[in-house]
Amino acid sequence: MLTNQELTKKVREISLNYFKRPFEHEAKWNQRLRTTGGRFFPKDLHLDFNPKMAELEDFEGVVLHELTHYHLYRTKRGYKHQDADFKRLLAQVGGLRYAPAVEERKVKYDYVCQNCGQNYPRQRKIDTKKYRCGKCRGQLKIKTSRI
Ligand SMILES: [Zn+2]
Ligand SMILES: [Zn+2]
Repeated sequence: MLTNQELTKKVREISLNYFKRPFEHEAKWNQRLRTTGGRFFPKDLHLDFNPKMAELEDFEGVVLHELTHYHLYRTKRGYKHQDADFKRLLAQVGGLRYAPAVEERKVKYDYVCQNCGQNYPRQRKIDTKKYRCGKCRGQLKIKTSRI
């Protein structure tokens, strides 16, 4: 994952590319964000981003959303979701209206190779007669079932 510094650099690049305006503040990861992609803080003009969305293809759309808040606020236009300025600029740059859904991976079954000890966390039950350890071809055994 990017460091806060690298994230800020990326936000700066996106800002120049799409808005033709510089992003002059800081961007950082915020682990506590759950389903929101990011947040804009009018007080000190920094942006928070959800690290769970960092790997998503749509992450740039999340950055564009927060930058739309940022640039409108700085140019004293309607920067809130319901404002016409916000809707217009967001559509113009192609930012996301809503944060993409992040599904937390739910591991329900834990398998382990009886030969080499390699773990296989899985969401679904697997047929241990058919599937073998990918490393050593050993037999898999269920360790725990979390349903
Ligand atoms: Zn927003
Ligand atoms: Zn094995």
